[in-house]
Amino acid sequence: MAHGGKMREHHEVIVVGGSQAGLSVSHCLAARGIGHVVFEANRIGHAWRTQRWDSFCLVTPNWQCRLPGFAYAGGDPDGFMPRDDIVAYIEAYAKSFAPPLREGVRVTAVRPAAGGFEVDTTSGDFSAGSVVIAIGGYHLARLPAMAQRVPADIVQIHSSAYKNPEQLPPGDVLVVGTGQSGCQIAEDLHIAGRRVHLCTGSAPRVARRYRGRDVVSWLEEMGHYDLPVEEHPLGAGVRAKSNHYVTGRGGGRDIDLRVFAMQGMQLYGRLRNIEGSLVVTAPDLARNLDGADESFTKINASIDAYIRAHGIDAPAEAPYVPPWSPQIEPESVDLVEQNIGAIVWCMGFRSDFSFIDAPIFDERFYPEHRRGVTPVDGLYFLGLPWLHSWGSGRFAGVGRDAEFLADRIGARVSSCQKGLLF
Ligand SMILES: Cc1cc2nc3c(=O)[nH]c(=O)nc-3n(C[C@H](O)[C@H](O)[C@H](O)COP(=O)(O)OP(=O)(O)OC[C@H]3O[C@@H](n4cnc5c(N)ncnc54)[C@H](O)[C@@H]3O)c2cc1C
Repeated sequence: MAHGGKMREHHEVIVVGGSQAGLSVSHCLAARGIGHVVFEANRIGHAWRTQRWDSFCLVTPNWQCRLPGFAYAGGDPDGFMPRDDIVAYIEAYAKSFAPPLREGVRVTAVRPAAGGFEVDTTSGDFSAGSVVIAIGGYHLARLPAMAQRVPADIVQIHSSAYKNPEQLPPGDVLVVGTGQSGCQIAEDLHIAGRRVHLCTGSAPRVARRYRGRDVVSWLEEMGHYDLPVEEHPLGAGVRAKSNHYVTGRGGGRDIDLRVFAMQGMQLYGRLRNIEGSLVVTAPDLARNLDGADESFTKINASIDAYIRAHGIDAPAEAPYVPPWSPQIEPESVDLVEQNIGAIVWCMGFRSDFSFIDAPIFDERFYPEHRRGVTPVDGLYFLGLPWLHSWGSGRFAGVGRDAEFLADRIGARVSSCQKGLLF
């Protein structure tokens, strides 16, 4: 098809990204007989393969892996798949329906054009009636500017490059950030016998199990994961919140930083500054620990209320009592004095949609959309955290959003066909 004066191979739909989100929408489009192609810059499951550490396990239980037409069918639904099993699950998904996937093809530009979109790639130029952006939201490592002032002999890595304790030079390790990754990486180093200094933040935490069941299973039953972003008390603001920390490691358990402190981990408040070898921290450690416990206790209380309201027979549980509290607020740590040889930055990611040339982005470069449907007709997003609900950026909910988008695309395709016919 001639598009913009050039001959371009045309597809009804082009899906950008071939991991769980891209494959999910591909499955749904195929089921509706809608022609499409999936471009994957690397290999399917790339982020799981390359950006997770060796001991990584899902935090969400396996039964929540419910990609369209391919619900988890392994022998451990209440367990938490390790990294390599997650990759195998995604590979098996692709094998199950043979999507029109082109690996090793990066989309370099998407722009609206007459009748649809022009899509440039590292493997030629294409056109499409619709485009689904399914590249997740975690593209660029978030690092603070002060990282540039860290003395040159200290090794610095982002959580996405962390693999195992042996990868780091001997000595203590400073971990910055207590979201999911920070807490789990700090634990990984701690278990390996490395002395960890951990700069905490305001991330909340959640119990692994409560009243005889995994908390995720209670929250699922309570309808928590069906809540659309528009009805969340924080509205779209929930998209910027850190995830609750907990782990699936060892069959699943709580992460209580107070227990780590009792075992020798050095906890600090929020990282404030780096001046030479001196790392300056805020006097908010107690507040951060209390804040995490508050969310833990609040979620448990909501489960208690649900159990009461529905007369459910569930074992009682003693209220949480903090086993440790900081006696002083440490306000700095000296990298040299403490023999800290490495810093692991666990401050999350930024997204990069700069290859999309369409008037849909706000000042923070977040796309305007409602459940993935943007104001530019035919341009869609899938797989972003809280795109629609808690599970949108996870195995739990990406399939439901993919079905929704495939329906929208199907309706658009048939109205375009009618437009051509009449
Ligand atoms: C540390 C961490 C832990 C997580 N733990 C869980 C968990 O326990 N449970 C859970 O359900 N979810 C979890 N998630 C969230 C989520 O499931 C993952 O982020 C998952 O990788 C998202 O899948 P995706 O397909 O949306 O995006 P990605 O897996 O990021 O895949 C996007 C794909 O797009 C490709 N791509 C990017 N740009 C282009 C381009 N321009 N052209 C073509 N291809 C491109 C990439 O190569 C990549 O393969 C976690 C996320 C992180 C970061």
